Amino acid sequence: MNYAGLVEEILKKYKEELGISDEVRVKIKKYKTRSAFINLKTKTIFINENLLELGEEVVKYLIVHELIHLKLNNRYHSAEFNRILYTYISPEKASEIRGLIANKLMTIMQTSKTKIPEPRPKSTGESAFNTTPSGKLSGA
Ligand SMILES: [Zn+2]
Repeated sequence: MNYAGLVEEILKKYKEELGISDEVRVKIKKYKTRSAFINLKTKTIFINENLLELGEEVVKYLIVHELIHLKLNNRYHSAEFNRILYTYISPEKASEIRGLIANKLMTIMQTSKTKIPEPRPKSTGESAFNTTPSGKLSGA
């Protein structure tokens, strides 16, 4: 399925519905724990690629949700936020979709747990060199 086309279509439609004239970009990436979020400064929506396969209604929910954050220019899920959201997606549907998303994210986390965790790319080498006296040996 052409997700990029679907995303663009939904984005265009709901930007119009919400009266948003700014240029909004959407980036699709794989995340383990996040569903979607928006950078209000760059007006860029990030969507978890793993959730696209849940179907058009989920994609619509994610995009509409983030567009409302942009419209209100904050990240709060206020009464006003929900009022707008529920004009496009009923509360029942929204709660069903949140359930689907939560299940999917849970599955992703469980699947990734079975793998051997990669060593964290912390700057351990650098800090060890700076803090341990033995680090000086290589230079001396
Ligand atoms: Zn939100």
